[in-house]
Amino acid sequence: MSRDHPIIVGNWKMNKSLEEAKSFVEGLVPKLEESDVVLLAVPFTLIKPSVDASAGSVLKIGAQNMNDASKGAFTGEVAALMLKEVGASFVLLGHSERRKYFGESNEFIHKKLLRAFKDRIDPILCIGETLDEREKGHTEGVLDSQLAEALEGVKNLRKLKIAYEPVWAIGTGETATPDIAQEAHHFIRQWLNGKYGEEVSSKLLLLYGGSVTEETCKTLLGEEDIDGLLIGGASLSLDSFVKIVHDSRYAKRDVS
Ligand code: PEP
Repeated sequence: MSRDHPIIVGNWKMNKSLEEAKSFVEGLVPKLEESDVVLLAVPFTLIKPSVDASAGSVLKIGAQNMNDASKGAFTGEVAALMLKEVGASFVLLGHSERRKYFGESNEFIHKKLLRAFKDRIDPILCIGETLDEREKGHTEGVLDSQLAEALEGVKNLRKLKIAYEPVWAIGTGETATPDIAQEAHHFIRQWLNGKYGEEVSSKLLLLYGGSVTEETCKTLLGEEDIDGLLIGGASLSLDSFVKIVHDSRYAKRDVS
């Protein structure tokens, strides 16, 4: 995956029945082009049926969470190798809803990241500040510690992608302005540059997430450091998601 072509990731959260998932994927697949980079993070129970429904297409199916252990007495948890066994190729880690409702710490997310690397499932690390942190001027400090703690001791970023998702923008209808999003993305890229060097940081895909819609997708992607989008609410409607995928194809070219 290169930075030239936007990556569009849907996050269904805890939504959709088996039938709804199948008909969504069957409706989406024919609308995709070979060069599209489109991923869907679906509930655990929908991974296998979504993988089956998208067989032979460019669509990639992934999970929204996983445990850091390889297996064992962790009731209710799911391991990376289990996800891979049913066809998941990527996993979201550290989504703000996991941090907020399930108390996930940077330390736990760090362990999951190591597990994802070890068991070779591609992680998308989610980071972002709350409204209170932004208003107090702590945005960069929060991003710095989320990155530093998640990536502690990590020498090789492999296929890591990072999603900047300001908590105040997730599910609120309040999309970050392109300027605000770009500023945070630039900070993240510079941070990566400082730790891993230009060669790595210039290639790493940075996604923006937070109330992205058909109306806002193109201008966000027009920003230099925004390589893709992570989309929650608007990924639940096939029409909206397809429109975002279509509009994103030439977003960089159209805006510049
Ligand atoms: C998300 O869940 O990652 C997300 C960005 O949600 P929404 O698009 O609904 O704000």
